[in-house]
Amino acid sequence: MRILFTTVTIISLALALIYGSLSASRKSRQARLLAWTSFCCAALMALYLCYITVDSIRLKEVFYSLQFAAIDWTMFSMFALIRESVEKPLTRTSIAILAIIFLIDSAIFISNPINGFAFDFAPHPVYDMFLVTSPKLFCFVHYALRFSVCAFMVYYVTHRVFTISKFYRGRYNIAFILFLAILVCNIYFLIEPNKRPDVTSFMITAGVVVLYYSIFYFSPNGLIRKVQLYVNDNISDATIIYDYKGDVLRINKKAKSLLEDNVWENVDNLCSYLGFPEGEGKYKKKIKGGQYEILYGPVKDEKENHIATFFIFYDVTKMEEQIEREHKIAITDPLTGAYNRKGFFEAANDFLYRNESQAGFALVISGICGFKAINASYGTKVGDKVLRFIEHCYHDYHHSYPMIYGRTSEGKFSALVPFDYVDELSSDLTSIDVPIDKDVDIHVDMAHGFVVLDDIAKPLDHYYERALLALAECKKNSVMGALEYSYEMEEQVKRRQLLVAEMHNALREGQFYIELQPQIELMTRKVTGAEALARWQHPKLGRISPAEFVPIFEENGFVVNLDVYIWELAAKTARELSDKGIYSGPVSINVSQIDIMGMDIAATLERIVTEVDIDPSRIHVEITESACAQKRDTLIRTMDLLRQKGFVLEIDDFGSGYSSLNALMKLPFDVIKLDMAFMKESNIDGKNGIIISSIVDMIHALQAQVIVEGVETEANVENTVRLGGDIVQGYYFSRPLSIDSFVEYVKSHRH
Ligand code: C2E
Ligand code: CA
Ligand code: CA
Repeated sequence: MRILFTTVTIISLALALIYGSLSASRKSRQARLLAWTSFCCAALMALYLCYITVDSIRLKEVFYSLQFAAIDWTMFSMFALIRESVEKPLTRTSIAILAIIFLIDSAIFISNPINGFAFDFAPHPVYDMFLVTSPKLFCFVHYALRFSVCAFMVYYVTHRVFTISKFYRGRYNIAFILFLAILVCNIYFLIEPNKRPDVTSFMITAGVVVLYYSIFYFSPNGLIRKVQLYVNDNISDATIIYDYKGDVLRINKKAKSLLEDNVWENVDNLCSYLGFPEGEGKYKKKIKGGQYEILYGPVKDEKENHIATFFIFYDVTKMEEQIEREHKIAITDPLTGAYNRKGFFEAANDFLYRNESQAGFALVISGICGFKAINASYGTKVGDKVLRFIEHCYHDYHHSYPMIYGRTSEGKFSALVPFDYVDELSSDLTSIDVPIDKDVDIHVDMAHGFVVLDDIAKPLDHYYERALLALAECKKNSVMGALEYSYEMEEQVKRRQLLVAEMHNALREGQFYIELQPQIELMTRKVTGAEALARWQHPKLGRISPAEFVPIFEENGFVVNLDVYIWELAAKTARELSDKGIYSGPVSINVSQIDIMGMDIAATLERIVTEVDIDPSRIHVEITESACAQKRDTLIRTMDLLRQKGFVLEIDDFGSGYSSLNALMKLPFDVIKLDMAFMKESNIDGKNGIIISSIVDMIHALQAQVIVEGVETEANVENTVRLGGDIVQGYYFSRPLSIDSFVEYVKSHRH
């Protein structure tokens, strides 16, 4: 019997110590309480071991009495633990009161061998041990205390069993059985002390062990099944499930490898690590270099009791990278690798946001002068090389200064730079030699328009428009390298905005009309043609020139609507004039490059001639040869189609600096229009004169006619004759005329 007790005691002592240290290593309050309880049990077992191993009755009595004190403290901590686990933690005051009561009680038992206030000590009549005889008042007080604590614990646990979700009931069932056993055992021993050995100490120790398991490790099957849906080691997403108190129920391997132990240990640590608010939701977080989308929320039973909290970490790194890549493509100019317009605006806004306190930034827009000409005469490959070279220059700057830059349109770069650097940047980039091939450089000029960002709160668009205006001004006065936006330009911006605001209405109300400029055949001096030129009669601003509104409408695309209207007007006028027997010659209409991209010109014109019922050959379509330098295929296709349908094709502004003979030869055409301004008086003599007249001869050889535009003087007419031009158009003969004046003009030039 003694050997059995000794062995069981040693095992219990060891277990209590192990559990004590295990729970002490956890950080929760509950674990600390359990550690306390376990250590109290260990003390109890140690005392019991001493009690059965010593021989002296006196010493036995001492150890026996000390056990009562140890039981006091075990019960106390167990009570606190149960209160904690049913979520009714003891308040500081109740802890203090209970501690005083248990302190007095244990003091009485510790001093019992000296004063015998509690009980006498006598050998057990049956077993080889001692027991309490003639218990005194204090002994009854002690038992009363023990029973009440035990009874309370039974009450709490029972209450819990009936109120908690069925998924957790298993845990409390265990505790319930345990406390009931301790209670019964105590009562039984009290009633029949002489017949049974006192095993209360063992019971209590065993109880603590069971409690440890049920609190930290026991997860009822139903609960596991319910949460199993969420956690699976095979699924690739890291998943953690916490019980309703926030302790881990299940965690898969992936989650363990993703998070540090102290992070996933309980729900509070995890939430504070992730920076989550309570409740549920979907959040994003970077963990260990990966991007995760975390879904979390409660698991509930059918009565809406919160039984667990789940966290699923979806690895969205690849997806984010893909989005990032796509975004990068959307904001990058594929040719130079710099930002495109969208990217520049995004990055610049972001930059300004970050540098809010740093005033003094300027937006510089730099345009390549005659970029279309470079494409047309050297080919787009060379044009691309020029753009890449310029991008490199910006790239170098970008290493030295805080700046954002991008290619914001075809031949324009925009940069956001500190104001102090504008001069340096613009003077460095005004005249550039771009190496094209070995030993071959081409010279490129750039113009710059800039504006100081005086009010960061204003949108970048506001400044962009102004810098663009300054650039346009700068290009006009080609002497200057850079031009700052000035207040005078503001008037232009306002006028521009006004025109844009009113264009639709103006078209509806018929504020646009045409004037006809006669074209005179040199041989006969008769009117052989007329160019229809758009005019805008604004109710307040008066007559507005197409030189002002056409470029604006080309930028916003409205030119397509306007041109269809003008073409219809031109066709109707041609029809009316021939119906009246006044003029049955052709009328030339202007086609913008935006029209070629923006609509099916051939179909539109065909519709118009059908509706108006005139011969398509009476409509001469003027297309600028440099139009669509980038999309030549579209241009050639459109022109072929127009020709098939019977329209006459005129190449407008030929020789305007960037027309290339080579490119011209690929286009179908019937008439070439040369502008007098391109053939300066000095150019007519000598070499240039020979070149121009041989071009004219070549055009004639191709069965095409030559119209010379901008003929203003008698000398111009003479030069035209010398060069071999067939037809002239210009102020010398007539300005563009209203339809009535045109009728008069034709009548007076019939002879
Ligand atoms: P453009 O097609 O080159 O038209 C010829 C321009 O030269 C006209 O200017 C005309 O008034 C002007 N002009 C005629 N004779 C002389 C002259 O002897 N000396 C000088 N210095 N100029 C002369 P306008 O009417 O101001 O038109 C300017 C430009 O606006 C046109 O140039 C054309 O590109 C565009 N435009 C005009 N009407 C339309 C239209 O209906 N649609 C489109 N898309 N563009 C149009
Ligand atoms: Ca024209
Ligand atoms: Ca022209």
